[in-house]
Amino acid sequence: MTPIAPGATIGILGGGQLGRMLSQAAANLGYRCHIYCPEAEPPAGQVAAGVTTAAYEDAAALDAFAAAVDVVTYEFENVPARAVERLAGHRPVHPNAGALAVAQDRLVEKRFARDIGAGTAPFAPIDSPADLAEAIAGIGLPAVLKTRRFGYDGKGQVLLRQAEAGEAAWRQLGASPAILEGFVDFAMEISVIAARGSDGAIAAYPPIENRHVDHILDRSLVPAPIPPALADQATEVAGRMLEALDYVGVLAVELFVVGDAVWVNEIAPRVHNSGHWSIEGAETSQFEQHIRAICGLPLGSTALRGQAEMHNLIGDAASRWPELLREPGAHLHLYGKSEIRPGRKMGHVTYVRPPADGDG
Ligand code: AMP
Repeated sequence: MTPIAPGATIGILGGGQLGRMLSQAAANLGYRCHIYCPEAEPPAGQVAAGVTTAAYEDAAALDAFAAAVDVVTYEFENVPARAVERLAGHRPVHPNAGALAVAQDRLVEKRFARDIGAGTAPFAPIDSPADLAEAIAGIGLPAVLKTRRFGYDGKGQVLLRQAEAGEAAWRQLGASPAILEGFVDFAMEISVIAARGSDGAIAAYPPIENRHVDHILDRSLVPAPIPPALADQATEVAGRMLEALDYVGVLAVELFVVGDAVWVNEIAPRVHNSGHWSIEGAETSQFEQHIRAICGLPLGSTALRGQAEMHNLIGDAASRWPELLREPGAHLHLYGKSEIRPGRKMGHVTYVRPPADGDG
């Protein structure tokens, strides 16, 4: 691929904080970003060169957007596949539509993980109460019932403890196509953030430990305190996925540590909340890495600058900003969202502890 040189315009579908931080990283390399999203006044729009406010179904707006940009990417995985296909008719789109399709459906995603030889929780497709009864008998309880599509941060999922509660739980999820997964008694949740360049080069950050509160990421710590063999296993899984998907860009793989194995929970075909620490904590941030990959530039170093820790500022926690500004070593990021809502990601703060003399 001929590199898309600095000065070009990158189109981003989605206007949240991920699009905002992508735009900031792109600007550092001399690119312009154009945000496309249905919501008015998106956080990314405050730092981008252009914004289109239109529905993902608006063919004329999609065509005009394509004409205004040199390459297209996205910052969330629920972009309608048809919008991506339409744009791909005009401009390169990274990651490709196939990768997006895998990540949009939990059943396809789990089967894909299995196909590349990765472990997962036991799972079964659920399309009816009869499927559910059969799956509960096979997988056992407790188990987690999840909608196949449009779930995030624990939304669209129910923990099942009793078989009798199954049908009501499925109806609560809208009686939509679902997947039943065995409940995993994991030792730790980790993620691997890895990138593949247009030349096929792969670069991964060390695995990250993720701690959730109420199903929402609360803290990420890197490097995750796991044995090297487990870290290698997790990194290899991400590498195999990147190759199998012929992927270009940053991919996040969320995994459970179970004994001496790692099991894939889900993948995100984009930059990821568990990689925000990389802005200060790595030689190249995940955002710059994604821009490098989609523009056909060489990938940057994923070496750590120390041990890093990222704390999300969720809802009211963002009002702590005055005290965080006074804290030495606290790198504060606020996303420019006007309204604080419970559970809403308003910002994050990163701490990097440089390696002590004699470390390593
Ligand atoms: P997800 O939306 O699939 O990432 O799920 C959100 C969170 O729910 C995960 O980060 C886990 O903490 C928890 N979770 C999801 N699936 C399972 C499972 N099969 N077993 C145990 N915990 C789960």
